[in-house]
Amino acid sequence: MKRKVVLYNNPLLLKKSAPVREVNAAIQKLAHNLIDTMRANNGVGLSAPQIGMLKRIIAYEYKRPKGSKDITPNVPLRVLINPEIIKLSKKTKVDEEGCLSFPDLFGQVKRSTGIRVRALNSKGKLIEFDAKDFEARIIQHEVDHLDGILFIQKLTDNKLYTYK
Ligand code: ZN
Repeated sequence: MKRKVVLYNNPLLLKKSAPVREVNAAIQKLAHNLIDTMRANNGVGLSAPQIGMLKRIIAYEYKRPKGSKDITPNVPLRVLINPEIIKLSKKTKVDEEGCLSFPDLFGQVKRSTGIRVRALNSKGKLIEFDAKDFEARIIQHEVDHLDGILFIQKLTDNKLYTYK
């Protein structure tokens, strides 16, 4: 079910989310709500605090629009519970980021280009994998949300901009 996205003026976004103790039906429902809300808003990633739940869960997915000239590779849907970034590459890249909690605003943020992630999947199974480039950027952005950190705190030039 689609939920309302918590916006930038809500102090909830600055809070730290609590680890999930058990991947039960309620958590799976929350994960589905995250996916539905992300897709309904054409987002590439969303964290549970952004739908008002201070739990360590994120979802992400990127599908290149049909006919798009964008060359970013598709990123398959993933739900990560209690995600931990256990390795960050020294190599970084500055690139554009937006956030569903900051509609229509973008900024330049520096992120590691490669990371190693440990998490539970939506079935509660422990998984570990490497992510790079756009996927690594999304995960770093969403894991920051779980710690109450927003991309506007990491802008390389302190500027937000809009295309509208
Ligand atoms: Zn965000």
